[in-house]
Amino acid sequence: MIKPISFKVVLITLQCVLSIALSAQHASKPKRVIFLIGDGMGLSQISGAMSTYTGQNAFLRFPFIGLSKTSSAKQYITDSGAGATAFSIGKKTYNHAIGVDADTVPLPTLFELAKQRKLSTGVVVTSSIQHATPASFYAHVGNRRLYDSISTFLLNGNCDIAIGGGADFIFNRKDKRDLSAELKASGFLVINDTILKDIAATKYIYLLAKDGMPTMQKGRGDYLKRAAEQAVKNLSTNKNGFMLMIEGSQIDWGGHENNYKYMASELYDFNETINVVLDMAAKDKEMLVVVTADHETGGLALNEHDDPLRFSPIYTTKDHSGVMVPVFAYGAGAQEFAGMYENTEIFNKLVKLLNLK
Ligand SMILES: [Zn+2]
Repeated sequence: MIKPISFKVVLITLQCVLSIALSAQHASKPKRVIFLIGDGMGLSQISGAMSTYTGQNAFLRFPFIGLSKTSSAKQYITDSGAGATAFSIGKKTYNHAIGVDADTVPLPTLFELAKQRKLSTGVVVTSSIQHATPASFYAHVGNRRLYDSISTFLLNGNCDIAIGGGADFIFNRKDKRDLSAELKASGFLVINDTILKDIAATKYIYLLAKDGMPTMQKGRGDYLKRAAEQAVKNLSTNKNGFMLMIEGSQIDWGGHENNYKYMASELYDFNETINVVLDMAAKDKEMLVVVTADHETGGLALNEHDDPLRFSPIYTTKDHSGVMVPVFAYGAGAQEFAGMYENTEIFNKLVKLLNLK
């Protein structure tokens, strides 16, 4: 008589097959990390914008999802300085701080730790490269508005590639200092142009606007997607790996204006960039992709509309709100990002996964 295979045996076999399949797909630890921050991108922004988006919804492609608690050291409602600094140094700090803790002590950022491990680093943004979110990864200043001062931290060489706006804080400085010449002397290529062109350098500052980049509504086009691809191409020449931070900066700006269409057009663009990044990660088993926000902006609600199939976007503030924001993770080590945690845990998780300490 043939013995029936027990349910338990079938289950164990299935579990083995599944874990082998998963481990064959992605390494347990990444060498290359792409960290995407949708500034001001809460669940309402994603829910609303993706309900009318006709292309591929990138957020559906993530196997692991978490929730990040965004409060800063002294205020329940954070700003982008404290929000990005929580990611970059792993400490809650005061609003408007850049790369310093609540006592204004500069602490090593993810980029500085990554450089110590011989990884390459970069930022790609739709704001200026000196804006609070990117600045928190390479600068240490007491106040986010010190853009001229923030620019000088690029000289330290802890951010190999920066693409975005902010030419005025390099070329048209209040102190008349020729920072461009100083950056060139430190080995950077400094480019000031209106269109992003393909380059082969590994250390450059690519400036495409005086301050923030144009909005999508004013024809920014596929800049963010192309800049992301350009940075990955150049950073990939480092076999030790890299950390790249990409920011959809203006999702937040649409929120501050309570301009739903502005916000949605920026989120569509960010979504397309995430898709491009995920396509790259699908072919690279040592890549980790993490997408999150520093906070929600506008206290956006999706309320009832006369047409039962539609919603009315209602803003409850011109500033940020205190709701948790989602974290999406894909690739090597992505499972670490499931759960609910403080924003500072994102730093700890990335440090652990990249063996940065
Ligand atoms: Zn904001």
